[in-house]
Amino acid sequence: MAIEDELIIEQIQIGPMENFTYVVGSRATREVVIVDPAWDVGALLDRIDEQGYKLAAALVTHYHPDHCGGSFGRNSVEGVAELLSRNPVRVYTHKLEADGLKKVTGISDSDMVKVDSGDKLDVGDVEIEFLHTPGHTPGSQCFRIKRTLVSGDTLFVNGCGRVDLPGSNSEDMYHSLQKLAALPEDTLLLPGHNYAEVPNATMDEIKRVNVYMRIPDLDSWKSLMG
Ligand SMILES: [Zn+2]
Repeated sequence: MAIEDELIIEQIQIGPMENFTYVVGSRATREVVIVDPAWDVGALLDRIDEQGYKLAAALVTHYHPDHCGGSFGRNSVEGVAELLSRNPVRVYTHKLEADGLKKVTGISDSDMVKVDSGDKLDVGDVEIEFLHTPGHTPGSQCFRIKRTLVSGDTLFVNGCGRVDLPGSNSEDMYHSLQKLAALPEDTLLLPGHNYAEVPNATMDEIKRVNVYMRIPDLDSWKSLMG
């Protein structure tokens, strides 16, 4: 993948659902954040240690347990709760996702930083911008880091997140995708799952291959989504 010199950005496939966790930060200061830590927190922390990175925070795209840990059917998935018990940091969540995140993971208000669209976080000399992209869940968010976009389950290379789940909203998803379509064409999309033939792609490539990014208006969107 295209890695900018000053940026640490590692895409790590983890767990049985082809999730991607990301380690993002500053090459100069070696401070990093971890995005959607789940499934094997020990392996993720070992990797951060081995590289000599300093973990500054955890960022959560949305509250589904395959991204942040928690109960999942009869299973329990490791996630932010295990991360905090081993390496205490703040967990950045969109303010509309905080209650869901608490319920699913058991972390408390004091563990979280509740952010809104447009808020920014500096990690060393790297700035991360939070973008609210509701649709898959009410408080889904993406992270814009230089010419990359970590998109969780909002946008995949070939598709978008499900909007038939509790808390989903199809119309919100349409507007969120429109917002992402307006990002610069060379923005590298870093999705929340490895669902396509390639693990990442630029926005101009995605607009060519992803039908959900080419819907002209809301009425067409509604007839496509049923
Ligand atoms: Zn999800």
